[in-house]
Amino acid sequence: MNSSKPVSPTVSPRQREQPWHALPSEAVLEALQARPDDGLSESEARARLERHGPNVLQRVSGESPLKLLWRQINNPLIWVLLASATLAIVLGKVTDGLIVLAVVVLNTLIGFVQEFRAGKAIEALTQMVPENATVLRDGQKLTVPAAELVPGDVVLLASGDKVPADVRLLAARNLQVEEAALTGESVPAQKRVDTVAPNAGVGDRTNMAFGGTHVTYGTGTAVVVATGSATELGRISQLLREAVDLQTPLTKALATISRYITVSILVISAVLLGVGLLRGYAVAESLMAALTLAVAAIPEGLPAIVTIALAIGVQYMAARRAIIRKLPAVETLGSTTVICSDKTGTLTRNEMTVQALWTPTATWSISGVGYAPQGELRREGQPPSSPDEHARELLVAGALCNDASVRPKDGAWELTGDPTEGALLVAAEKAGLKVDELHERYPRVDAIPFESENQFMATLHEDGRGGRFILLKGAPEVVLRRCAMDEGPGTSKVLAEVERLASRGMRMLAMASRSVPASHAGLQFEDVAGGFRLLGLEGMIDPPREEAIHAVKACHAAGITVKMITGDHAKTAEAIGAQLGILEGSQVVTGAQLAELEENRLGEVATASHVFARVAPEHKLRLVRALQQQGHVVAMTGDGVNDAPALKQANIGVAMGITGTAVSKEAADIILTDDNFASIVAAVEEGRRVYDNLIKSLAFVLPTNLGLALILIVGVAFFPIMRLDGEDVPLLAMLPTQLLWINLVATVALALPLAFETREPDVMRRLPRHPDAPVLSGFVLMRTLLVALLMCAGATGLFLWEYSFEVGRGTAHEVALAQAQTMAVTTVIMFQIFYLLNCRSLQDSVFRIGLFSNPTVYAGIGLLVLLQLGFMYLPFMQRIFDTAPLSLQELGLCALVGAAVLPVIGVEKWWRSRRARQHPQSGRRLPLRVPRRATVG
Ligand code: ATP
Repeated sequence: MNSSKPVSPTVSPRQREQPWHALPSEAVLEALQARPDDGLSESEARARLERHGPNVLQRVSGESPLKLLWRQINNPLIWVLLASATLAIVLGKVTDGLIVLAVVVLNTLIGFVQEFRAGKAIEALTQMVPENATVLRDGQKLTVPAAELVPGDVVLLASGDKVPADVRLLAARNLQVEEAALTGESVPAQKRVDTVAPNAGVGDRTNMAFGGTHVTYGTGTAVVVATGSATELGRISQLLREAVDLQTPLTKALATISRYITVSILVISAVLLGVGLLRGYAVAESLMAALTLAVAAIPEGLPAIVTIALAIGVQYMAARRAIIRKLPAVETLGSTTVICSDKTGTLTRNEMTVQALWTPTATWSISGVGYAPQGELRREGQPPSSPDEHARELLVAGALCNDASVRPKDGAWELTGDPTEGALLVAAEKAGLKVDELHERYPRVDAIPFESENQFMATLHEDGRGGRFILLKGAPEVVLRRCAMDEGPGTSKVLAEVERLASRGMRMLAMASRSVPASHAGLQFEDVAGGFRLLGLEGMIDPPREEAIHAVKACHAAGITVKMITGDHAKTAEAIGAQLGILEGSQVVTGAQLAELEENRLGEVATASHVFARVAPEHKLRLVRALQQQGHVVAMTGDGVNDAPALKQANIGVAMGITGTAVSKEAADIILTDDNFASIVAAVEEGRRVYDNLIKSLAFVLPTNLGLALILIVGVAFFPIMRLDGEDVPLLAMLPTQLLWINLVATVALALPLAFETREPDVMRRLPRHPDAPVLSGFVLMRTLLVALLMCAGATGLFLWEYSFEVGRGTAHEVALAQAQTMAVTTVIMFQIFYLLNCRSLQDSVFRIGLFSNPTVYAGIGLLVLLQLGFMYLPFMQRIFDTAPLSLQELGLCALVGAAVLPVIGVEKWWRSRRARQHPQSGRRLPLRVPRRATVG
């Protein structure tokens, strides 16, 4: 249901009103002209898709443009500005009034366009995660986009799936469905195929599963009875509102800051109005000064800058294979202190190869890697040979108790299904067994599929001699518990063998079998409770991902602890943890040990240990909570249905795009499209960059706004009022209109490019930001004051110097004033350009981060220079703004004074970095590197 295109599928009233739950399944199939074993044909499915429309719910996307525009306008500040502009016009200051209007309109428009585009981009990405369904078409099991399902399709449901449409069940094995989306009931409902009473409510229709609900356990086969808006969910919410909230803690914090600044500035403006009047300014003049102060000093652009920075972050993260589902994650990522990751597939390649076999009589090794079935078996210390009877039996069991398939495709071998199971098939083929023939010889009657919490899989087969047998495969401890060990090597010897192979980093599986009478028709959990004969062990390697090793190192450098949480054996986990550099000499802790720990010890162990083995999903939840209580910001990965609570609890829930279940994806904040640990680290790096860029924007916008305000305040409060031709003319370094000009062009051209700034070289070499660290840090405040004073001093000083110089050599007052004021404006513009370059990095000089690494900055500067040239040299601009053309020398002088910011900020940066080196932990209150060793139990 993943389209924003509004559609209204044609639903026949008959289809809607059918009480599908009250009909026997045969009647349902007949009414829908569906075949349970083959499904629909492709052509029939296409025809039905034409008729019923795609299986999507109408989606109302985000905020409407009009509402967004209104939000920009409906702001007390804008009203004040509009009212003042009108007043200025009424009082005869027409040009000034119009310029204020222009500033307001332009700012609103820019804010609107940028926020609208950012919102669209974020929405598009957050909805990028495709929804698929497994369906039978022409007798083939296919994965198709859920949007292409039609009534009559036969779908297969498995634990973790989102039910793709309303379906009537045809078969169910321990099927449980969580229907909270529909009924609000979060306890999963047990499903079966029996007919229910016609008047049963939605929650009681146990033979139906509804679109939008989630399978939490078991498997089932079902026929689609309604799609899109015809589903129950479609009916209750004809319009599914899934607006992406553009608010995050950071945008809220900044909105609050903006409000405070606005109120203070309005107060200061009022004071300035009073001062002007007291000093004998005309009313219109005073009003204009107060109004200009408000317009120039209030950072109207900030909210837009934040949204844009976040949107750019979302896009960059997507390019680095992390899809953001919830916007606040972008900023939380930047303060992550612990990443808890699954092992298989995330830290390792999930390319399993069986390398060792153990049977009660011998140990074997198998050569060759990957899924190509070429390799040799050899008994320990002997030349290659065929498997003996015991090894053969073990390999057959591994191949039969198996749902995967491995086939040649385009010159390579391709696996469908679970890589663990694929490896078992390949091992059997390497030993000369033909898997297809085995399946024919020992047809499967029933199966209990693998679930992580059971740690085993079982199948029931015909033995070809009139009897039946059950195969059990799974984690060695789990299988051994079900074996009669009175003959053969004994449990402890087998477990020692498991440890020996596991400590080489191998994932271990045990196989066992049990004969049952031919009358045994289906498999229940009681059937696999005991009485098995152990066939042996298979050990498979799954090498660590090369990039994960680097990513773990990067995390450590960035003050982020990495923890591996796996369902695998402790020894396997220990070996892989050591190869990845995660273990760091700590002790491996098992799920069983975690379960026994008391709450107060849990936090200590969770912090000190980095590898957790044989962990069940509920342990993950406890671990996240314990780490959070220690003050950590936790990112946690998960792929299964039962990982959802831990993903929700974590500060950043990370789901797997390829192997993850729909349930885990919906619970997550971000989804990795390549399931790769390195992508989490990339996202963290981007998160830090986004935050840095926000601070850079703040460090640019606030000081320049304050600087402009100071120039005006100093002028109104302290500069003389001259009496010329019988008129009072205030001497000001800049006319209000000129100040508004700076405000107008600088916001457009200069503030935005900082959001595109690339990563700082040390972005992953500093400690994580404290999540509660204030946005307006001491640094930003100090910088604001320093730069504002410098800017005010430079522009005002140069103005006074030029004015007295011109007047001194007999230039007419008006000409001297225009000349000096134009110089002041140009100085501020130059100052802003140099300061912008400076803001490109918070710590380093622009030369270290790469002078041209962010071309948007130069586009902005280029635009600004052009506008400023027009401001000085175009006659109509000179008329509007009372400017004068400057000579090359004068321009040089402005540039020189503007460039004064470079050495000053250079010294400031040097001083800060020296201080940071002396007090590396300052500003960071989290216990990061905690005691390495803690003992458990
Ligand atoms: P990780 O956390 O490293 O990603 P995991 O939690 O997914 O791994 P599981 O897949 O739950 O680990 O596997 C746990 C144990 O169950 C394995 O060590 C293995 O012994 C056993 N096992 C894994 N896959 C199967 C399977 N298909 N059939 C039977 N047993 C399996």
